[in-house]
Amino acid sequence: MARTLIVGAGQAGRRCAEALRDLDPEAEILLLGEEAHPPYDRPPLSKAVLLGTDPGNGLFVRSPQFYAEKRITLRTGTCVEALDLAAKQVVTTVGERIGYDSLVLATGARARPLPVPGADDPRVHLLRTLEDAQALRAALVAKPRLAVIGGGLIGLEVAASARQLGCAVVVLEAADRLMARCVPPAISEMSAALHRGHGVELHLGCALRRITPRAEGLLLEAGDLEVEADLAVIGIGGIANIALAEAAGLAVQDGILTDGCGRTSQPDVYAAGEVARFPHPFFGRTVRLEAWQVAQNQPAAVARAICGEARPYDEIPWHWTDQFDWNLQVFGTPEPEMELVQRPAEGGRLTALSVDAAGRARGALVLNNGREATPLRRLIAAGKALDLALLRDPTVPLRQFL
Ligand SMILES: Cc1cc2nc3c(=O)[nH]c(=O)nc-3n(C[C@H](O)[C@H](O)[C@H](O)COP(=O)(O)OP(=O)(O)OC[C@H]3O[C@@H](n4cnc5c(N)ncnc54)[C@H](O)[C@@H]3O)c2cc1C
Repeated sequence: MARTLIVGAGQAGRRCAEALRDLDPEAEILLLGEEAHPPYDRPPLSKAVLLGTDPGNGLFVRSPQFYAEKRITLRTGTCVEALDLAAKQVVTTVGERIGYDSLVLATGARARPLPVPGADDPRVHLLRTLEDAQALRAALVAKPRLAVIGGGLIGLEVAASARQLGCAVVVLEAADRLMARCVPPAISEMSAALHRGHGVELHLGCALRRITPRAEGLLLEAGDLEVEADLAVIGIGGIANIALAEAAGLAVQDGILTDGCGRTSQPDVYAAGEVARFPHPFFGRTVRLEAWQVAQNQPAAVARAICGEARPYDEIPWHWTDQFDWNLQVFGTPEPEMELVQRPAEGGRLTALSVDAAGRARGALVLNNGREATPLRRLIAAGKALDLALLRDPTVPLRQFL
């Protein structure tokens, strides 16, 4: 019986194990994770877990019995520290050697620390794990003055959650606009108005230089600005956990390099989820995507490849963020230089499409308008030139363009 060993029991590790079981009732599946918990999904950490509306239980997606029922051997609290590719074994931190026929690296990413003086103060938080979220929640309920470093998706979700808990919140963002990596400028401006409207103090173009710990709080220096806070959260993105792969000689480049099916540069070794950098036909280049969707669905392509059925992962990219009363979903690549066609709907809802010079939709955003997700995905996938005059008329339904 062939054994697949999956390193990393996060969302991608779990999904790979599940997909493999669906394809192969006989496979031996071993899922090893360094965290103390069974696999959980991270999106609620910056939202429901901080708000206290989900103390953690809804994160786990699968019941504790699920893994045994599916004959997936789950070993939590097990960290792999080396790969012995020649022997087809992994080595854990306690020196145990475990063999495999196929190896899947689903080691994800960690929160990127900020290399400024004072960032190691215990009042400066990062947010990646359930423990991180629980520690932050415990600190936020005392309604401290919070400084959020980074006006990207996670920083803004933290800012919104903290504000809703009654904290005074300042956001310091080095770029000149919010969420600059994933939305066009018009949406950044709307997001800034949303946060300011809820009493968040925003400072753009303001790179943090130093944190000075004081007995009574922290002094943050950013540009010409000095901000006093009781607590800080750094939300400046993630770093792929590639050390194991790199030490074993696998090809890496801000991620573990794979083909479209998750196959790495070594036979029988695969990478799944956020750690994988793979060629994506929509982008026409390799990408490493930090999104729930990729952790959910790319591992199925890996499972198929393990079973000898190579079909690359090629979904139109999608991610979302929840901030205050906003649910913002982003599809494809809404590049800043493209024209943004805005189609407002009643109740403050909005659909916007980024169209390239040829009039093709390359990206789209919906604000509290998830009902348009399906036609938007189809429009982007179709890649055909659209009648922009018609598209600019929000009363013309999207299905008319399909
Ligand atoms: C706070 C937060 C909010 C988010 N919100 C959204 C959202 O709203 N929408 C969205 O689309 N995406 C969101 N994301 C992104 C999404 O959750 C991630 O892309 C997803 O978690 C990636 O899953 P993964 O399994 O690839 O990696 P991870 O979730 O990082 O899991 C990897 C696992 O591998 C383990 N591991 C690493 N090295 C080893 C080792 N050597 N041995 C054993 N185990 C190891 C890690 O401990 C971890 O448990 C959010 C992420 C965070 C952190």
